Amino acid sequence: MFVDLHTHSTASDGTYSPTKLIRAAKDAGLVGIALTDHDTGNGLKEAAAEAQCVGVRFVPGIEISADYPEPGTLHILGHFIDVDSPALQRMSEILLAARNERNPKIVARLKQLGCSITMAQVEAVARDKVESGKPFVVGRPHIAQALVNAECVASIKQAFEVYLGTTGAAYFPKERLSPRQAIECIHDAGGLATVAHPVQLRCDNPAHLQTVINHLAEAGMDGIEVWHCDHDEKTSELMLHMAKKYNLIPTGGSDFHGHNKADVILGRGRNNVKVPVEVLDRLEAKWKQKRHELFV
Ligand code: AMP
Ligand code: ZN
Ligand code: FE
Ligand code: FE
Repeated sequence: MFVDLHTHSTASDGTYSPTKLIRAAKDAGLVGIALTDHDTGNGLKEAAAEAQCVGVRFVPGIEISADYPEPGTLHILGHFIDVDSPALQRMSEILLAARNERNPKIVARLKQLGCSITMAQVEAVARDKVESGKPFVVGRPHIAQALVNAECVASIKQAFEVYLGTTGAAYFPKERLSPRQAIECIHDAGGLATVAHPVQLRCDNPAHLQTVINHLAEAGMDGIEVWHCDHDEKTSELMLHMAKKYNLIPTGGSDFHGHNKADVILGRGRNNVKVPVEVLDRLEAKWKQKRHELFV
């Protein structure tokens, strides 16, 4: 029995609606799934309802970016967040304001570089995938798709390589929370915080990685993503070692984005690796234990 604890829907930059995502998880034979959209919990209620309908364990989640030196990125997953918590609402508002400040800068730079797309076109890409009237988050994959539509690039991959990746010509960072703030926000929203795809921290040697993970563990991190589409077997082994060393719960997921990450399969990591349900059991046990501690 297997699970997937890292996925995206149309509420952020995935191409499957929350309902379609849950059905796909069921069809793939998964017994549990977390929806972890960037910066928003807007897809969670729909996903939870569908999961209950089809009989899949559902974990309400989120993924947020925190401050970290480029070209690395520090993404933090929140699992078991309380959808109705004011803390989630506040955090989302801050994060979405940062996106709204950054996206037009990217589009303006693209224009200077000869790629004339508009914010309206980018927003249309994101809006096109959601039911009318529902909120959505605009991210770089939508800008990438708008560039493909305008025939400025041949693929989403090329859009990131040339323009949108951290070393791309139209890259702008967005205002981010500090790691400690991000972890606190997730805790305030009732969730557990884990380091997403730590390979993207781009630590150049194990000693550097240890320093960073140690720092994050001290800042209150609960877990670390061991299995992920960007982790080869050696990387997963290394991250499992980090989990043990710093007493972090190991987690795993595909980082499924539908057609926006065409090579990623729901429920599978790199080399078809699958995440056993016991990983979810452990995460849930930790969450229950922490909640219990809060109330005694
Ligand atoms: P944003 O949240 O707007 O900064 O966009 C981040 C998202 O862009 C990630 O979650 C991925 O879905 C996507 N992304 C980042 N780098 C790449 C890349 N090199 N190729 C394809 N997609 C990427
Ligand atoms: Zn994404
Ligand atoms: Fe991420
Ligand atoms: Fe992700």
